[in-house]
Amino acid sequence: MAKHITLYTGAKMPILGLGTWKSPPGKVAEAVKAAIDVGYRHIDCAHVYQNENEVGGAIQEKIQQKVVKREDLFIVSKLWCTYHEKNLVRGACQKTLSDLKLDYLDLYLIHWPTGFKPAKEFFPLDGDGKVIPCETDFVETWTAMEELVDEGLVKAIGISNFNHLQIEKILNKPGLKYKPAVNQIECHPYLTQEKLIQYCQSKGIAVTAYSPLGSPDRPWAKPEDPSLLEDPRIKEIATRHKKTTAQVLIRFPMQRNLIVIPKSVTPERIAENFKVFDFELSPEEVNTLLSFNRNWRVCALMSCTSHRNYPFTIEF
Ligand code: NAP
Repeated sequence: MAKHITLYTGAKMPILGLGTWKSPPGKVAEAVKAAIDVGYRHIDCAHVYQNENEVGGAIQEKIQQKVVKREDLFIVSKLWCTYHEKNLVRGACQKTLSDLKLDYLDLYLIHWPTGFKPAKEFFPLDGDGKVIPCETDFVETWTAMEELVDEGLVKAIGISNFNHLQIEKILNKPGLKYKPAVNQIECHPYLTQEKLIQYCQSKGIAVTAYSPLGSPDRPWAKPEDPSLLEDPRIKEIATRHKKTTAQVLIRFPMQRNLIVIPKSVTPERIAENFKVFDFELSPEEVNTLLSFNRNWRVCALMSCTSHRNYPFTIEF
């Protein structure tokens, strides 16, 4: 299996990347360095993860040690919701670039379609505890994202957590200059996303699968929630291939032509998660994993269900 997907821009995006959400500042640098050492060339970052400065330090160290060249890395970051107003987008991108110590990003995503009022806090709330939306629509934000490409700050732009009608709105924007290169969405055997993936791929938009392991370290995990890593049906497939459940969960999206970004701060797991290019799930096994869909979401953005652009009110 090829290690890259070619985006419509012509850029090659490594299909396996390292996630960094919840990776604490004190651990993420070691994780990024361990990842680069074992062959990862794609790192998934975001301003809201509050660790881009440390991620950037690790990247810089590996470039200085000549372990990798900048052009061989594919660095992704995301515009947080409080920066959707057109005049805030450039500054937000520059802050990320300065934290990551880079002069360009390979891909910059609108993190969520829901813009919030500009604020110091990441989730500005009203008196009733509801998030305060901003006036700007994401289609306007998109125009500011396009300008980042023209200014050379980013090589490609994309979206995350957009439903197909929201994507359609961007594709239909009058004067659209660049369509989204990628939609990054939650995707794993309990949320298989067939329709949204089919829609994106039919439009030439690549899809990245986030929380591929079911995000066991999500802060809102409840004991009664389903667990992909402990699912005996997935364990059985893994045993058949002499692989771990995590490796099957990472290989599965790769065989669906998706990009996948498992997170770990544990060097042994970071190495384990990269050993997924030497086995293949059968078409029956892929179908079996698809049959486990239960529309279960890790990231449902429950604090924003009243937002006019909340993405998960329609089927896909
Ligand atoms: P995930 O990758 O599904 O799971 C991460 C968890 O799995 C961590 O607790 C990690 O533990 C553990 N783990 C990793 N490898 C393992 C292995 N081989 N065996 C057992 N456990 C293992 O969850 P995620 O962080 O939610 O998603 C991945 C990335 O997607 C994020 O980090 C982020 O970059 C991105 N993401 C984006 C969005 C968005 O809105 N666009 C939302 C969610 C996630 P240790 O770290 O302790 O090893």
